[in-house]
Amino acid sequence: MQKNLHFTALVLMIVSLFFFSCNRTKNAYAQNESFEQFKKLFTESIWKNNPDWALALGNHEYDERLEIPSKENRIRKLDVYKSLSDSLKKYDWKKITPENSIDARIMMNYLEEYNWSCYELKSFEWNPAEYNVGEGFDLILGNSKVSLEKRLLVISERLKYVPEYYIVAKANMHKPTKEHTELGILQNKGSLEIFEKNIPDSLNASKLSNEEKTELKGHLAQALSSMKEYIQYLTEVQKTINKDSTATSSFRLGKVLYEKKFRFEMQSCFSVDEIFQKAKDHKTEIHTEMNAITKKLWPKYFGSASMPEGLTAVKMMIDTLSHQHCAPDSFIATIKKQIPQLEAFIKQKNLITLDDSKPLEVRETPMYMRGGGAGASINAPGPYDKNAKTFYNVTPLDGYTPDEAESYLREYNNWILQILNIHEALPGHYAQLVYSNKVDDIIKSVFQNNGMIEGWAVYGERMMLEEGYGNNEPEMWLMYYKWHLRSTLNTILDYSIQCLNMSKEDAVKLLTQEGFQTASEAEGKWRRATLTQTQLCCYFTGYTEIYALREDQKKQLGADFSLKNFNEKFLSYGSVPVKYIWEMMKSGEKN
Ligand code: ZN
Ligand code: ZN
Repeated sequence: MQKNLHFTALVLMIVSLFFFSCNRTKNAYAQNESFEQFKKLFTESIWKNNPDWALALGNHEYDERLEIPSKENRIRKLDVYKSLSDSLKKYDWKKITPENSIDARIMMNYLEEYNWSCYELKSFEWNPAEYNVGEGFDLILGNSKVSLEKRLLVISERLKYVPEYYIVAKANMHKPTKEHTELGILQNKGSLEIFEKNIPDSLNASKLSNEEKTELKGHLAQALSSMKEYIQYLTEVQKTINKDSTATSSFRLGKVLYEKKFRFEMQSCFSVDEIFQKAKDHKTEIHTEMNAITKKLWPKYFGSASMPEGLTAVKMMIDTLSHQHCAPDSFIATIKKQIPQLEAFIKQKNLITLDDSKPLEVRETPMYMRGGGAGASINAPGPYDKNAKTFYNVTPLDGYTPDEAESYLREYNNWILQILNIHEALPGHYAQLVYSNKVDDIIKSVFQNNGMIEGWAVYGERMMLEEGYGNNEPEMWLMYYKWHLRSTLNTILDYSIQCLNMSKEDAVKLLTQEGFQTASEAEGKWRRATLTQTQLCCYFTGYTEIYALREDQKKQLGADFSLKNFNEKFLSYGSVPVKYIWEMMKSGEKN
């Protein structure tokens, strides 16, 4: 508490000091220097008030403290944030560089979202899965830059907060949703291993003194029993809400909350209604294209057999083509081989400059990272560890039964696997990340915009095919559309479930019949859509914005338009909302 008051006073002092000294300069960005200082204070304050978040981004300064999610804590934080917001408003955003004016808006968005989440969203009341101390301890234990003994002493301190943490969690509960209660039980149970096995094992292997060991064990026992009590409590809650529907809330946010969450999370130039409409129209366009391609391909695969009407024929074509896939034991080798091919294509077509000094390493997903369900993902270094290697993690299929492997490989068949590599690696996430890391700006690297990041990867898929990747084979385009339907339907699904009361039955029908997904994929998507809100929209929203921006630039620049220039310029601003990049490209501020 003392520290934060001191901090607020310091901010005000620095701000007024700089105003005084900068007023007389003729510099167009007269307040910029002061704003740079303020950004540092702002970030420091965010870390001080969100030790778990700091930790997750690789800033270990506040590891000893666990944030207690109490009402008092929220009020205190709102207070600190209010003073940050006041300071931010004192700046004339025209007197800081355009890049910094983007930061100012990103910072303000964050502060406003926090305020909204405290007073309106209130997920701390209905989402029991928000409370879980496992990950933080796991990250501290895994921080190999510090000696094991030091890590354990930090853990010993931090463990002291756990009992109060879970008491507060229970007190916060008000009509939790059934779905998030179930998730809370599952995930807290999943964390027990860290306290029952990982920490004790490390303790045994350490050189701590006997006193230190005994003390840590005491803290550990108390923390563990409070976690178990929380799980027990949630199990009781689950029984109650199964019997009494007035004791629980719906997982559906409803239009009012959803709309606001979309605005804060996406920071899109489109409204949620516009995006929903665009997704529905896009679905129809994709189906039309798929029908036309299927018609063209039909004789090649089905000879003179008569072609059924509409999407049934498309589904038959997709099923037939999906048999062309790699063998289970060559999954990783196939991906490894494709990366240089993508690179060569990008160079040959002059699509974007790739930084050869930062090679991408394809590797088997480490054991401790498996189980998340994703077969392939980019493992990127955080803002505090920018020079660490980037890995393309691929989970080998040896844990699968032959049937599971077959089903997985049909999904990631010869064509879709290439599109996945475009999305994850080149020119998708990996290439974007290299550009983003060159922007040395703490605000832009901390508050990354998912719409921009996912949108770029989805845009990259389209751009590669438009430029002739896959030789314009109809098979490649058909599979591309199937893949592309996924992000389009994610948006329709999320909005319909959260705002329009869509039933599970209708959701599964949409995904299987109109999206050609398997029943198990649709089931998984339904689950994700009940547990998250607006997250499923980021792929299509970002893609739609980027595509619209590119088409707008083509129109503006006419014969001067260059795809390579567009791509590189677009990425040069960092992982910020597309609407700000649009603004910058339009004003031509950064050349
Ligand atoms: Zn097969
Ligand atoms: Zn992605």
